[in-house]
Amino acid sequence: MNILFLGTGAAEAMAIPEANIVDNMRRCTSVLLDEQIIIDLALQSYDYAVKLGVKTDLITDVFLSHTHADHYQKDVLIAYARAAKARLNLWCHRNAVPQLKLSGEDEAWIHLCPVEIMQTWETAGMRVTALPANHLVEANPDEQPLHYIFEKDGKCLFYGCDGGWFLSKSWEYMRRNCVFDAMILETTVGECPGNFRIGTHNTLPMVRLLLTALRENRMLRESAVLIGTHINGEGFEGTDDRMKKDWGLSFAYDGLSVVI
Ligand SMILES: [Zn+2]
Ligand SMILES: [Zn+2]
Repeated sequence: MNILFLGTGAAEAMAIPEANIVDNMRRCTSVLLDEQIIIDLALQSYDYAVKLGVKTDLITDVFLSHTHADHYQKDVLIAYARAAKARLNLWCHRNAVPQLKLSGEDEAWIHLCPVEIMQTWETAGMRVTALPANHLVEANPDEQPLHYIFEKDGKCLFYGCDGGWFLSKSWEYMRRNCVFDAMILETTVGECPGNFRIGTHNTLPMVRLLLTALRENRMLRESAVLIGTHINGEGFEGTDDRMKKDWGLSFAYDGLSVVI
């Protein structure tokens, strides 16, 4: 599996609309998988993909974690849909649909595929499972933000942005069914254990506990690739080396490409 990070920042990156972002700045979080799948339609995702030379006509499926503005922009959806060779499959939680603001006209470009939590299906050569995330879309509280598990060619990838900790249903599903080759974890907040986001996002102390439990319960391969993303920059000074050396977790940056 190929993973290309098209953005690695949190909501604060909404203030930086252009794709030609200066060094050390982060676009909003978005990922390309195997040239074919986009996760989250962040503000700068399409422009940056084009800038990196991504063949956007190869993209067939989009997975939406939730409809916060740093993860969903309708203009970006339309840009990907117009570039695609066929109607783009758009996977999202069923109660996220009203927030997408799609019109009848958009159906010519977009094949809307609402999903339920705990659902597993196949598309784009992947087996995909949608798990509930501990996160809240305040404007649409019935929407359940999602984490996704992607499986292909014997590899298993976890994608979890946004959401703090794991909800019990998700944890128990993963504990029973998953040994991860790679995890993309949200690390929104750094060394700030008392940060107010604790109910909806991860801090680094929380991530260390999660990694301890994942290892102790044999949910990670020895060689598992662990990547932190959705970074808001607060409390990250001097953390890179220690998280890598002691915990095996690297922080993503815009344009990072990883093969698992
Ligand atoms: Zn976010
Ligand atoms: Zn969010």
